[in-house]
Amino acid sequence: MSELTERKFICVSCPLGCGLTVRLDSSGEVIKVEGNTCPRGESYARSEVKDPRRVFASTVRVKGGKLPVCPIRSKTPAPKDKLFEIAQEVAKLEVNAPLEIGQVLIHNVCGTDVDIVTCRDLAAR
Ligand code: SF4
Repeated sequence: MSELTERKFICVSCPLGCGLTVRLDSSGEVIKVEGNTCPRGESYARSEVKDPRRVFASTVRVKGGKLPVCPIRSKTPAPKDKLFEIAQEVAKLEVNAPLEIGQVLIHNVCGTDVDIVTCRDLAAR
């Protein structure tokens, strides 16, 4: 008989924050997800077990802009274990104004297949 393990998460897909329990077999395959109020919770739990991801958000320095920094984020969620490396890459960056919302500043950051984009327009001085 295979050994079962259990992991617990809080679903962050909406403000309700359901407590999720995930049962895994000995090979790490998800057997069952409980505690979710909707199907998004099950998708979130499966993703947390297999490939946990988060949206990365920060700011970059801007040269010649009306503001000295611009908010940025990952266009899609990035692998959780790469977030520190991504933060180091973003910290090296300084971009020239003007900027447009959604402008790609780093393509395929740290080989993750995720782009870093601006969160707002930023005019030149
Ligand atoms: S399971 Fe559904 S209802 Fe519960 S927190 Fe996740 S998204 Fe919200």
